[in-house]
Formats: sequence, structure tokens, C-alpha cells
Amino acid sequence: MRKIAVYGKGGIGKSTTTSNISAALADMGYRVLQIGCDPKADSTKNLMHGKKITSVLDAIREKGEGNITSEDVLFQGYGGVWCVEAGGPTPGIGCAGRGIITAFEKLEEIGAYEICRPDIILYDVLGDVVCGGFAMPIRGGYARNVFIVTSGEMMALYAASNIASAVKNFGKRGYAQYSGVILNSRNIENEEALVKKALEEIGGEIVSVLPRSASVQEAEAEGKTVIEALPDSEMAGAYQKLAENILNLSAEVENNYE
Ligand code: ATP
Ligand code: MG
Repeated sequence: MRKIAVYGKGGIGKSTTTSNISAALADMGYRVLQIGCDPKADSTKNLMHGKKITSVLDAIREKGEGNITSEDVLFQGYGGVWCVEAGGPTPGIGCAGRGIITAFEKLEEIGAYEICRPDIILYDVLGDVVCGGFAMPIRGGYARNVFIVTSGEMMALYAASNIASAVKNFGKRGYAQYSGVILNSRNIENEEALVKKALEEIGGEIVSVLPRSASVQEAEAEGKTVIEALPDSEMAGAYQKLAENILNLSAEVENNYE
């Protein structure tokens, strides 16, 4: 199996990109599990036809710690992609990072991986704060390969640099590996050159350049990925190529299910 985390600055296009990778991989015949690690719990909505699924933390709050089953938190979307949202704490109470840890532990406890039996797990993670919980996919042996979504904008590159450093630091202890950036274009001037320049410091390569495309909004308006809504579009082709590149750049690791 492969275990991949997609990090990046807030609003940069992580969930859109991750969902399209998941959909493209499902079309290629892989069993895919996408885990949203964002308190907003909206990572998988374009795989679920716009429907927001119950998050693990909401399910725990509603049913009680010991009463959760896989049916409460595990949903199948486009192409059979398994969708999970970790969810967040009650606003103002508790730490979002701690919530992610609780959600991951619960997924193991209820045998989620044995049910999905994924070939590929994709974690969609907010990268502005690399605090304990948000670093979980890197630290806890969950993700093997880390890809970072960035544009050429300074704040996005700043976040990318922080995430890459975190992976390198934790990577000494764990086995997560920084595996490159996905350039999600904002169409700023000299964008690719700016990212390449930043990579001289950060390290790594551009895995794919995704154009900025109205197809994304068109698909989103239907609650779908571009892969599902506009499969013959140029943008769908870009996501398919990205999915292939990610497969080529990520390591095959042992299953964590029996
Ligand atoms: P958050 O940190 O809030 O979770 P995010 O990084 O997951 O945000 P998305 O929700 O995927 O970001 O994307 C933000 C918006 O940017 C989306 O509504 C989407 O329509 C738009 N978007 C993302 N990528 C592209 C693209 N390549 N072309 C056009 N629009 C895009
Ligand atoms: Mg998101």
C-alpha cells in the first residue's frame, strides 16, 4: 500500500487537489481511502456529491466514545473512494490537533482499515500550523510520503518551507519523507520560476504544475471532482498526470491491516 499526506497553506487547494487525485486513482483501479484532517470536515465533499459526511469527532460526541461503528464514519464516494473526516473539537474547547489524534486512534479501534483495505491512503492536512496534531500524519508513522501544495505566492511558499522542515525534523525519528511540491497555479507573474527559486532553499522538485482552471468551479458547483464532472477536460488530464506522478514518487509500504 501507499500512505501519502498532502499538506499546504489554508485555502491553497489541498482538498480539491487531493479529491481529484483520489478520483483519478480510483479510475485507475486502486482502492483509495481519503482522510480529511481539517476541523471544517469538508475534504471529501466533492467525492460525496456535495454531501458533508459525519466526522469521527462528531460521531463520538453524538453517540459516545464506545458506541461508534464503521458505518457511522466511513462512507464511499465516487469510484468507490472511501471517505473519512477526522473533524474538530467544539469551537472554543479543546485543541484541533488533539482531535486528529483521537480520530486516528478511533479509526484503528473500529477496524476501518480492514473494511476499506486501501491500496492508497491520502491524508488532506492543513499546513499553516504544524503543531502536534497536524503533524500526526508525519510523526505517527501514518504517512510515508508528504507532498505540499503551493502557489508562487509568498505565504504559500512560506508555509511549504515550514512543512518541509517539519517533515525533515520528524523524519529523523519516523519514516515520513518530503517528496516534492504540487504547484497549483494562481497565475501570478513568473510563478513557476518563483517556486523553483524557493525550492533551491526548501529542496525537492515540482511534481506537477496544475493550471488555474474554471473547470474546478464548474465541477464544484455540482459537488463533484473535475475527474467525475469533466473527465475529458484538460484539467482532468492534469489531475490524472499528477496522480501518476504521485504513484511513481511514493513508496510501497507494508499494509497496516490484516
Ligand atoms: P482549506 O485550507 O480551507 O481546507 P484547501 O487548501 O483545502 O483549503 P480548497 O478548498 O481545495 O483549498 O480550494 C479552495 C478553492 O480554490 C476551491 O473552492 C476551489 O474552487 C479553488 N481552486 C483550487 N484549485 C484550483 C485550480 N487549480 N483552479 C481553479 N480553482 C481552484
Ligand atoms: Mg481543505
